[in-house]
Amino acid sequence: MKRLLIDLDRFAEHDKCAEKCSYYYHPGNYGILSLQEVATYSIACRKCEKENCVTSCPFNALEKGADKILRRYNLRCTSCKTCSHACHSGVILPEFIPYMAYNCDLCLDRLKGDDLPDCVPACTCGAVKYGDFTEDAEKNLYAIGKNLVVHSIHWQREIPKKARK
Ligand code: SF4
Ligand code: SF4
Repeated sequence: MKRLLIDLDRFAEHDKCAEKCSYYYHPGNYGILSLQEVATYSIACRKCEKENCVTSCPFNALEKGADKILRRYNLRCTSCKTCSHACHSGVILPEFIPYMAYNCDLCLDRLKGDDLPDCVPACTCGAVKYGDFTEDAEKNLYAIGKNLVVHSIHWQREIPKKARK
């Protein structure tokens, strides 16, 4: 099954790639950023016990679910960037939280045959790919939902020996 792969480790270079997204109703929409945000919350976020990001938000736009993964409600978020300053790990990049929300639907309804999402050929640094990717922790590949795979070093909380049973 074909899926979109985003390589979080290469996103520093991705700024140089042409931004392209085929979502007709949002010309200039940089939809891949919305995936980068979701992937970052799943893989790179430190999943703090007392999250500065959540408590700092004046609009209750951030929530951590039972799976300990952060979620942001676009319709409550005003793009004030308070959470970005509050996160001591620099996880919430200011570009993740624009006033006009970017959105990616993974082109699920538009791709046929060998088509590629527009963002893939526009990316020349290898941060965005499309193909038969599956989860493989040894290769730092993690699935998020059915249609997205993320390549990144997974941040894992180290449990002090004393706390282990
Ligand atoms: S940018 Fe959005 S999520 Fe972050 S603190 Fe402001 S309103 Fe809350
Ligand atoms: S403060 Fe930063 S590291 Fe901690 S939960 Fe929030 S986003 Fe994750």
